[in-house]
Amino acid sequence: GLPEVPARPVAERRVSRRIQVGPVAVGGGAPVSVQSMTTTRTSDVGATLQQIAELTAAGCQIVRVACPTQDDADALATIARKSQIPVIADIHFQPKYVFAAIDAGCAAVRVNPGNIKKFDDQVKQIARAASEAGTPIRIGVNAGSLDRRLLQKYGRATPEALVESALWEASLFEEHGFRDLKISVKHNDPVVMVNAYRQLAASCDYPLHLGVTEAGPAFQGTIKSAVAFGALLSEGIGDTIRVSLSAPPVEEIKVGSQILESLGLRPRRLEIVSCPSCGRAQVDVYKLADEVTAGLDGMEVPLRVAVMGCVVNGPGEAREADLGVASGNGKGQIFVKGEVVRTVPESKIVETLIDEAMKIAEQMEKDGVAS
Ligand code: SF4
Repeated sequence: GLPEVPARPVAERRVSRRIQVGPVAVGGGAPVSVQSMTTTRTSDVGATLQQIAELTAAGCQIVRVACPTQDDADALATIARKSQIPVIADIHFQPKYVFAAIDAGCAAVRVNPGNIKKFDDQVKQIARAASEAGTPIRIGVNAGSLDRRLLQKYGRATPEALVESALWEASLFEEHGFRDLKISVKHNDPVVMVNAYRQLAASCDYPLHLGVTEAGPAFQGTIKSAVAFGALLSEGIGDTIRVSLSAPPVEEIKVGSQILESLGLRPRRLEIVSCPSCGRAQVDVYKLADEVTAGLDGMEVPLRVAVMGCVVNGPGEAREADLGVASGNGKGQIFVKGEVVRTVPESKIVETLIDEAMKIAEQMEKDGVAS
C-alpha cells in the first residue's frame, strides 16, 4: 500500500500578535495581506494617489510611500486622507519625518531605530507618539543596510545577523513599553531569507512582513519570491507580503495575490488551466490561452477555465473546470460545468469561451460567490 503521509493544511498559521494597519489587521490569524510601494515622488501628490488607485484596483491592501525629504513629509497628510487603502510612510535616518507621518495620519511607519543617530531619547519619543496615536511600526531589517557592528560580528548578512539586528531594534522599543510592531528581515537570497524568517518566527511573536529584497527583474523576482514565500507560508510563517520587482508595482500585486491564491490562503479568482502543448496539439494552445486570459482579465469571480490542446487530457480537464475547451480536428468542444454545450470552429473558440464565461460570472455574482 501507499505510505501514510498526513496532509498538512497550509493555513495552520504561526501564532502572532495582531496589529492594525488602519482597517487591515496583520497577524493574529488575520488573512495574509498583500502590499506594495509606490515609485512616484511622494511629494507629487497627484501622481502618487493615481498610482495608489491603480494598486488598489489590482488588489493591493496596504501601500508604502517613501519619505526622504520635507516635501514628501508635507504630502503625507493628503495622501493618507485620500488613499483608499492604508498608507505606510517609509522613513530612514530622520526621526522628524516619523513624527510628521504619525501626525499626518499614516496607518503605520517603517523605521529602523538603529539607523537613527542619538536614537536613545528619540526612540522614547517615537514610542510615545506612536502609542498615543495608535500607529504601529515596522522594523525593516535589510541585508544591504545591516548594522556595521553585526556585519563585523558575523562577517556578512547571515540569518543570525539579520535576526539579531531585528530583535535588538525591537528591544529598543520594548524598553519603552512599545510592542505594536511588525518585523521584516529581508535578503536577496531566498535561502538566507527563509532561514532568517524561520529563526525570527521562533524568537518572537511579532507579526512578520515577508520580502525577498532586491529580488530582481520580473521573471527572476517572481520566482525568488514565490519560492521563498511558498516555503515560509506553508510552514505558517508570514502575515503580510511584499513582492519586490524591478517592474511596475502593479506587477508586484499580481504576483503576490497569485502566490496567496496558489497556496489556498485566499480564495481563487480567475484560474486558467491550460496545457503546455505537445506534439499532439491540434490548435495553437499558447495563443488560445493568451487570448482567453486577456479576454477575461479583471474578472472577479472564482472561475476555472480549461484550455486544452487535444483530446488526451482535454475533455477530462475541461469537464473538471467551470468552463473549458477541448480541441481537435479544427474544432473546439465547449464544456460548461462538465457538459458539452457547443462545438464551434477553431476561429470561434475564444469568443465563445468569453461569452460563456460572462454568463457564468453573471450567474455567480447573482448567487454571491464573487471573491
Ligand atoms: Fe499535449 Fe493534448 Fe496534453 Fe495538450 S492536452 S499537452 S496537446 S496531450
